[in-house]
Amino acid sequence: MTREFPTRVDVVIVGSGPCGAAYARILSEQAPDATIALFEVGPLLADPPGLHVKNIADPAVRAAAQRASQGPAPRDQDSDTMSGYADPDDRLVRPGTFLLPDGYRQPGEDGLPGAAMSSNVGGMGAHWTGACPRPGGAERPDFVPGLEELLSEGERLLGVDAHAFDDAPFADDVRKRLGAALDPGRADDRQVAPMPLAVARQADGRITWSGSDVVFGETTRSNSHFTLVPEALVTSVVIAGGRAAGVRVRDQRDGVEHEVAARHVVVAADSLRTPQLLWASGVRPAALGRYLNDQPQIVFAVRLRDVDARAGVETGTGQTGIVAQSGVSWVPYTDDAPFHGQVMQLDASPVPLAADDVPAPGTIVGLGWFCAKDIQATDHLEFDDHALDGYGLPAIRIHYRLTERDHASIAAAHDAIRAAADALGEPLDRDPLDLAPGASLHYQGTVRMGSVDDGTSVCDPSSQVWGVPGLFVAGNGVIPTAIACNPTLTSVALAVAGARAIAADLTSTGTASSTAAGTSISREN
Ligand code: FAD
Repeated sequence: MTREFPTRVDVVIVGSGPCGAAYARILSEQAPDATIALFEVGPLLADPPGLHVKNIADPAVRAAAQRASQGPAPRDQDSDTMSGYADPDDRLVRPGTFLLPDGYRQPGEDGLPGAAMSSNVGGMGAHWTGACPRPGGAERPDFVPGLEELLSEGERLLGVDAHAFDDAPFADDVRKRLGAALDPGRADDRQVAPMPLAVARQADGRITWSGSDVVFGETTRSNSHFTLVPEALVTSVVIAGGRAAGVRVRDQRDGVEHEVAARHVVVAADSLRTPQLLWASGVRPAALGRYLNDQPQIVFAVRLRDVDARAGVETGTGQTGIVAQSGVSWVPYTDDAPFHGQVMQLDASPVPLAADDVPAPGTIVGLGWFCAKDIQATDHLEFDDHALDGYGLPAIRIHYRLTERDHASIAAAHDAIRAAADALGEPLDRDPLDLAPGASLHYQGTVRMGSVDDGTSVCDPSSQVWGVPGLFVAGNGVIPTAIACNPTLTSVALAVAGARAIAADLTSTGTASSTAAGTSISREN
């Protein structure tokens, strides 16, 4: 059956991850008369749209949802585990994601063998861990007006809570030990703390993970001017008279192409595919795809010293129990210790156990330390106009090298993670493990924001592409700094600023629904 696509809206959003959803939510709140169409290439996994797959109780249904998120060539078999994840020679792949099939490493370069994406309603936000730390020190883009308030808005949209695991039996021990070793000299807001997580504890005690469903919220779901169209690939942004004028979108169900006119287009299609779509649309500023940065990640595992193993409770195999024993602890980035550290129960972390090692629940914790990349313009995405990817868009080739400063930073992170591990207990391995570049899944910089249009950035502080009025970009690619912490909260905060700018423009100039009465959009699944 052919679906009806709108012909004209006020705002088109491309991509339904947390950042695209943030635009839909803020616009629904601040410009309720505006007509909005959100196109998502991946399928709808669950109801409500954007639900985190960890909230799907049935393991078979959850596994099917993860497989459905794997893009144009889903794997035949998948597991609900992270097996193989720690081998740096393997290309790491996590449930719900798929790897860039080729072009991830050029001869003589490090590349990003772990470069991955998700294609589904909710994007990677249907599969993520939900760690939402605020950036600190040099991580923060200093030219963004009102960043603190924007981060608070991001926390509201994502439903961030730092205390959901306060009753985890080993959480206090973990934090006290880390704090005693690492807090001296740190500012109050950069001391070891519970990790702010996008989770909620329900009345029955269950923990649920925030996905785009939480970001959309009831306000978006009940907005009769909002339409979400899954399995709809945006193939280009239409530029007319030098400004964004709409999109071309292909219905993946029947292959029919549609053109949808819009006054504002927001491309929130992840850090690899947002610049790809701009390139495919002929929008090719000098900084497009450049300054690519991924956070080198180091992992280690520790058996907690002197804890009462009987305090741990079996949580079964359901993913909703993964951090119930030791919570998630946060060692914040500082300019003096420029690493972001997180410590969590091992089954939530990628370090493998020996087959015969059956720990008491929660007594083994995994440590993950993320480094800030030494940002280089030469680390970039190249788009091939003659070779196409699985969706028929210009194929992506990654150019990426770790510099001498990166190698020094990784060596320093080894020392830092070892110090944290020693504070907690006995390390299980002799040495920390470096994950393959790209494994962090935190790719930044490819459509970066800047304070002036000097050729080193793609968009202004409101995320509007320099020189292309009406075209906005969103996602981790917008982040201009070398942040080491998990980036989604920062990206959602920057999306809030962009959405407010669009809402202000629509409010001052009038929306399509008020100027072209009768345009109605039905909810489309
Ligand atoms: P995405 O969530 O990637 O969504 C982009 C969407 O755009 C996708 O659904 C895609 O299908 C769609 N799209 C792409 N191209 C097109 C097109 N041409 N037409 C239509 N649709 C298109 N981050 C953290 O901050 N903290 C964490 O703890 C954390 N843990 C993670 C754990 C895992 C296992 C994974 C997989 C990710 C994790 N992340 C974490 C990363 C986090 O999920 C991403 O930062 C976040 O989802 C980015 O949001 P986004 O909206 O920018 O992009």
